Amino acid sequence: MTNKIVASEDLKYIWHPCTQMKDHENIPLIPIKKANGIYIEDFEGNVYLDGISSWWVNNLGHCNPCITKKIKKQLDTLEHVIFAGFTHKSAVQLSKKLVEITPQGLNKVFYADNGSSGIEVALKLSYHYFKNIDENRPYFVSLKNSYHGETLGALAISDTGLYKDVYSDILITSLHVQNPQDQSEDEALKAVNDLEVLLEARHKEICAFIVEPLVQCAGGMNMYHPLYLQKAKELCEKYGIFFIADEIAVGFGRTGKLFACESANISPDIMLLSKGLTGGYLPLCAVMISDKIYDAFYCDYSSGKNFLHSHSYTGNPLCCTAALATIKYLEKFDIIAKNQRKIKQISKELKRFEKLSNVKEIRQTGMIAAIELQGYEPNDRIGLKINQYCLKKGLFIRPLGNVVYFMPPFIIKKDEIRWALDVVYEAINSD
Ligand SMILES: *Cc1c(COP(=O)(O)O)cnc(C)c1O
Repeated sequence: MTNKIVASEDLKYIWHPCTQMKDHENIPLIPIKKANGIYIEDFEGNVYLDGISSWWVNNLGHCNPCITKKIKKQLDTLEHVIFAGFTHKSAVQLSKKLVEITPQGLNKVFYADNGSSGIEVALKLSYHYFKNIDENRPYFVSLKNSYHGETLGALAISDTGLYKDVYSDILITSLHVQNPQDQSEDEALKAVNDLEVLLEARHKEICAFIVEPLVQCAGGMNMYHPLYLQKAKELCEKYGIFFIADEIAVGFGRTGKLFACESANISPDIMLLSKGLTGGYLPLCAVMISDKIYDAFYCDYSSGKNFLHSHSYTGNPLCCTAALATIKYLEKFDIIAKNQRKIKQISKELKRFEKLSNVKEIRQTGMIAAIELQGYEPNDRIGLKINQYCLKKGLFIRPLGNVVYFMPPFIIKKDEIRWALDVVYEAINSD
């Protein structure tokens, strides 16, 4: 088969995510034949460096032999079983491991099968907790420019107009507070102040505050100071509302620590893990929960305080095995410590972008580098142009509007980082 045949058959039958399908009248869809390590290969032998870890999931490379081996073994033993009334070894081992490595106090795991569904679990639990103690608190607080997924509940608390505005009439009302605009302490404190004003006035109506720790990824890689998290956590404690950390994108080493919350030394009441959780192999979300929340639901069935939420594939053994293998790989090869050198290298390589006149700002948090461009209108679709330029050179990146970002798998090597950022530089400089 050639790229052309696969692509034309695809367009006959498939509607792709986050895509205006008409774009594919002009932009070729690229069928992928195989992938290995940080490289993806099409049917004509073109190879692309996966510069955004396949939408931030593939932290340890494609077809990683250690993870593959464990999944294959699991596949011969138990592929899936209903998770109500039954349990299995890989879910138990994974849960124990997650409780060990996540911040203190998160002692229970509830599984969903993707990030957005996990967000729904966190929202429902927060609201339901207060119902169980006879309080009605219908509001969630999130940050401006936040992104928490695409289901109606997740969209409602998000603030990314592009994905949300058309549905605004049918979404639950949620409250948004100022997000820190940059990585300074000043901005962190200004945003904390905005949160405090709201909580002081309305905390009795609010059940939870939800935040993407350190980086608002889908919102254009907006990065901020950990001080914001510390202070926001203090405020949530003071006003008695839950602090939900959405680490779906930043968990498992992306920001330079295993979890972004560690940078602020905080323990959330609920923490969401997905994307990097399974190394990009299989869909799974772990909702980490504090004892306080768990205990408010632990009572006789007749009390009516039951959390009757389920997904068909909850706790799937293959997914749990992939997650466990991913965590073991991170530990065995000391990946997060080894990333520190790569983080420094990326920081050095980014310096030269400062001189480009179409570069507005350069940002970095750990293994995320972002270059925000200026002087373009949305209809210029500069991101798409840069994506196309880089693809021709063998680098896959997918800018968010005017923000070009680099978020490679952790197993990328020194010369590969240099090469990829050279290509990005050429792409930006040539426009
Ligand atoms: C991707 C993402 C989600 C949604 O996860 P899906 O698995 O895509 O539904 C939620 N929150 C954040 C911060 C994300 O990056």
